[in-house]
Amino acid sequence: MKKEIAVLEGDGIGPEIVAESVKVIGAIEKKYHHEFNLTYAPFGASAYFQCGSPFPDETKAICDRADVIIKGPVGLAVEEMNRIPAEHRPEIGAILPLRKRYDTFANFRPVRLPKSLAFFSPLRPEIIGDGIDILMIRELVGGIYFGEKTEGPSTDMAFSRDDCMYDDALVRRVAKVAFDEARRLGTQMTNVHKANVLATSRFWTAVVEDVARDYPDVPYASVLVDNAAYQLVKNPRQYNGVMLLENMMGDILTDQAGGVIGSLGLMPSACVGPEKSYVEPAHGSAPDIAGKNIANPYSMVGSIALMFDRCLGLTDEGRDIWTALFSLYEDGFVTQDLAGFGQRGARVLSCSDFGDLIVERILAD
Ligand code: NAD
Repeated sequence: MKKEIAVLEGDGIGPEIVAESVKVIGAIEKKYHHEFNLTYAPFGASAYFQCGSPFPDETKAICDRADVIIKGPVGLAVEEMNRIPAEHRPEIGAILPLRKRYDTFANFRPVRLPKSLAFFSPLRPEIIGDGIDILMIRELVGGIYFGEKTEGPSTDMAFSRDDCMYDDALVRRVAKVAFDEARRLGTQMTNVHKANVLATSRFWTAVVEDVARDYPDVPYASVLVDNAAYQLVKNPRQYNGVMLLENMMGDILTDQAGGVIGSLGLMPSACVGPEKSYVEPAHGSAPDIAGKNIANPYSMVGSIALMFDRCLGLTDEGRDIWTALFSLYEDGFVTQDLAGFGQRGARVLSCSDFGDLIVERILAD
């Protein structure tokens, strides 16, 4: 297979973890005799300082030409963000426009922790039980993040407002993706909402339940988002299967899920649109550990596995990456974020050494 791949390294730990995924792409290319042409393009806060825009036109053109896009996390430490005018900050000026441009409405965020690695979790092993295997599907181009934003002094008061809007088409298409996925996996589908308070959530749930009628074979459950946050810690396994979340609830609960399995570094993701997709870790640019070569590359390398499997239809290639990643953990290799979690004899590796071992295992298999 021959494919064009746009590479947006991003900020903070972005370039470090993207470098490890590029090594992995090279290993897959070699093993399966594919040809991947990688084109790097600036994106995020670094792009703003370099070119005056967090999503420059040149980057848009490279992404338009690419078959698929790899994106590292973007952003600066929250207190440093003031160095960038509001409209050029990475979320508003780069991530949301990227999502809108390619209509990447379905964000797949697998939350996986096998029983054998239960000690990664801050929760007790009996809570992890036979393991956590939840596919969180987050709606990515609607809701409050994309609604109109109003700020300003009115005649007699200062105020700000974020509008939240969902229409039938936006909800229906992501609900179908979630039910299809649950059917394929033979699991339940849990809808997360706040229908007891929000009109958009009542509407969301009504549409999801209408879609559910076409999937009588898929067990369906629904849960209020506040209870879901509680239950994810108390008994996460009850959600094994697919969870469907609107944009903001998905943003928050997937970070919580990263905490439940032990690290945000274990949270990869794929953002899938009708024509084009991109992959990115679920976390941010981790400025607190940037430049130290200690980040966990799993989230970015796992995103590459999702790219092969979900975006390019290369299932064996994706499986090879997962096998390599989990075999390293089973053999006691970890990065700093997962060190000292009760595994005896764990060997703590740098980000780049961990990446080298992934490549070694992919090629040895
Ligand atoms: P963060 O997700 O960057 O980091 C939270 C914590 O998780 C930190 O302690 C960090 O060290 C740790 N962490 C994250 N990824 C890790 C990895 N791969 N390995 C080891 N540890 C890891 O959250 P933050 O610090 O609040 O945000 C930093 C910046 O990232 C902000 O500018 C924020 O706006 C941006 N952000 C971007 C995205 C994105 O690019 N999609 C998503 C979320 C936040």
